[in-house]
Amino acid sequence: IPMGVCPLARRPRDNFTGPLQPWARPEVLTCTSWGAPIIWDGTFDPDVAQQKAVEQNLTIGLTVFAVGRYLEKYLERFLETAERHFMVGQRVVYYVFTERPAAVPHVPLGPGRRLRVERVERERRWQDVSMERMRTLHEALGGRLGREARFVFCMDVDQHFSGAFGPEALAESVAQLHAWHYHWPQWLLPFERDARSAAALAPGEGDFYYHAAVFGGSVAALRGLTAHCARGQRQDRARGLEARWHDESHLNKFFWLHKPAKVLSPEFCWSPDIGRRAEIRRPRLLWAPKEYALVRA
Ligand code: UDP
Ligand code: MN
Repeated sequence: IPMGVCPLARRPRDNFTGPLQPWARPEVLTCTSWGAPIIWDGTFDPDVAQQKAVEQNLTIGLTVFAVGRYLEKYLERFLETAERHFMVGQRVVYYVFTERPAAVPHVPLGPGRRLRVERVERERRWQDVSMERMRTLHEALGGRLGREARFVFCMDVDQHFSGAFGPEALAESVAQLHAWHYHWPQWLLPFERDARSAAALAPGEGDFYYHAAVFGGSVAALRGLTAHCARGQRQDRARGLEARWHDESHLNKFFWLHKPAKVLSPEFCWSPDIGRRAEIRRPRLLWAPKEYALVRA
């Protein structure tokens, strides 16, 4: 693929970024081997992205789970900062999944933005809370969320927005490069390697290691993704197995089999614990410190 040409990025359905300017970031990889753009700061024009999304009169869903102590600890800041930075100027519908709807904070919402709360059962193990998201999302996408939204992002709650996360991130299917792993050699990436697991990748398999804290796409694509992951998790459980990184392992298997149409650079979901990196210009989401002793107790 010649420099600067990303075939998938030219498909109008997949392209909310307008013309990409990969030459603006010569120091990073801006296109995958299958021709999907990797979106870095400076490679797109946010105004063109905004205009294209407005023209299509989109409603964009944002799902987040806040079960147990994650609700008090993270949800308010996640929603407040989403109001400032997530798809500003578009129609947005938040879906908050929790076992305690009454405890969801009342965050003032801008025009064209709504919040819906869905009740879920509280699983006993945090691993199960995390994995159950796939089944719950699959159902929601087949119901009201799927009817309301054209595109949906699914996110972890233990992070907050710190910069514009706009329609440049939209595509038929979107995967997030993991901040800790984007520059690691492929053989070191933490894919599930136990061949008995549905999430297993064989040696030599795997394009990038993707972070389950952010993924998105069209309703149809996400129906497929969540069905695949929920099925894999069920299969593993029936065999007495659990993939190394739970739902994230199954997500990585899915994106190995079904290549994402767009990939987000680690600028879109960055861990401050990594420290400064020259190629990380403007983080859009920042991980909260991992206070597992508090939230998983
Ligand atoms: N989660 C939750 N309650 C729990 C465990 C997980 O609400 O007890 C949700 C929450 O949205 C969280 C996500 O599942 O951000 C994934 O879990 P976590 O962030 O702990 O996983 P990590 O990012 O550390 O892999
Ligand atoms: Mn998380």
